[in-house]
Amino acid sequence: MNTQFDIAIIGGGPVGAALALALRGSKLKVCVLEARPASSASNDARALALSYGSRLLLDRLGVWNSLQGISPIRTIHISQKQSFGRAVLHAAEMNVPELGYVLPYPALQDALSRAIAHPSPASGRGAGGEGRGEFHYLSGASVMHLKGEAEQAVITYQQDGVEHTLRTRLSVVADGGKLLAQQYPPEVRDYGQSALITHITCSAPKANTAFERFTPQGPLALLPFQNGYELVWTAPHQAAQDMLVWDDAKFLHELHSHFGDRVGEFLTVGKRTCFPLGLRRAPQQTPMPHTVLLGNAAQTLHPVAGQGFNLGLRDAWELAQEILDATPEALGTEAMLAAYRSRRRTDREAGIRFTDGLVRLFSNDLPLVSAGRAAALTALDCLPFVKRYVAKRMMFGANG
Ligand SMILES: Cc1cc2nc3c(=O)[nH]c(=O)nc-3n(C[C@H](O)[C@H](O)[C@H](O)COP(=O)(O)OP(=O)(O)OC[C@H]3O[C@@H](n4cnc5c(N)ncnc54)[C@H](O)[C@@H]3O)c2cc1C
Repeated sequence: MNTQFDIAIIGGGPVGAALALALRGSKLKVCVLEARPASSASNDARALALSYGSRLLLDRLGVWNSLQGISPIRTIHISQKQSFGRAVLHAAEMNVPELGYVLPYPALQDALSRAIAHPSPASGRGAGGEGRGEFHYLSGASVMHLKGEAEQAVITYQQDGVEHTLRTRLSVVADGGKLLAQQYPPEVRDYGQSALITHITCSAPKANTAFERFTPQGPLALLPFQNGYELVWTAPHQAAQDMLVWDDAKFLHELHSHFGDRVGEFLTVGKRTCFPLGLRRAPQQTPMPHTVLLGNAAQTLHPVAGQGFNLGLRDAWELAQEILDATPEALGTEAMLAAYRSRRRTDREAGIRFTDGLVRLFSNDLPLVSAGRAAALTALDCLPFVKRYVAKRMMFGANG
């Protein structure tokens, strides 16, 4: 394999893989380095809520129709514990068939990986000089070191115990946020919360309805999936650890007292997993030349409004357009990266502020704040233009 590339994507997770697909068929020499071996499928326990806007992008990437086991969301019910005020969003009011979709992280990852393995015909679009592009997907390739130089970036990775080096005009760090975290520490806000996730069934599920319930200990979401719901229950770290080991009866009882009667009795609970939560926001301008951060490596959000992947996917799509529009000389230059940052600034900032604001505003039980929140939920419910504004932001982002 030639070791000189136009684009090297570090991390073939959902965001890195989406970028790779968007560049597929161009004249560029692209390489994806993914630490997970080809033989081991992702076993990530998360379920993801994809927005309608993400559906449109995944469709353009040729992935949407191959996604299996998706559950649509047509209604979102938002409420807060121990208070009046609630808002309900319906897809029909927003003139879309669905507000979003729920699917397991591994299902999305598998569909993206399958699409990468079965190339579409070369479109010949974009930078990268004469002739057809090249595309390499390296599984089990763990990047150990990245260095930006004047004309290129140099990547050192290990595969099958052997160390290799490659050079690239642009290195895209989509590794979830570890590789450069020590060198360029992100701004971190620890919410003091973990998310417990699991699958639950109940006696009166509401078809295609997602629930978001704000409680003083953190938000709780029920995302419709198959015969029940994917539960995302946030709580202070220690409380979440305790909830992991409750017996099923206690878990279902506590969930009921937290959530109420909207879906009847809770009947069964599946395997439980915990994720510590926080806001991690890398400096937008990476001081390392020929390098850009993407997806969770650029910003890791609280899952409260299901925005992380949706925002990362929009980042990947827009970065691909910037790359494809660049001349061969401009690829990976500071001018090109500045243009990308400026294109994404509004949506990124809005996504971070929206998610962070929700967590901080709703995770307390101050009486005055609680009354204000109740009024805000009622206003959201009663004012169609506010509802449309919020729903549009959640579906398409701030640039949509
Ligand atoms: C509990 C929870 C619920 C969530 N729910 C939602 C939701 O409903 N909707 C939503 O939009 N988002 C949600 N998110 C956020 C979403 O999961 C992330 O935004 C998304 O996974 C980011 O994808 P990524 O590809 O950037 O990073 P990751 O998913 O972290 O993937 C990184 C990839 O890089 C690889 N890698 C790591 N290090 C290296 C290395 N050194 N060399 C090579 N490869 C490497 C990894 O193997 C992995 O494949 C949720 C998050 C959590 C924690």
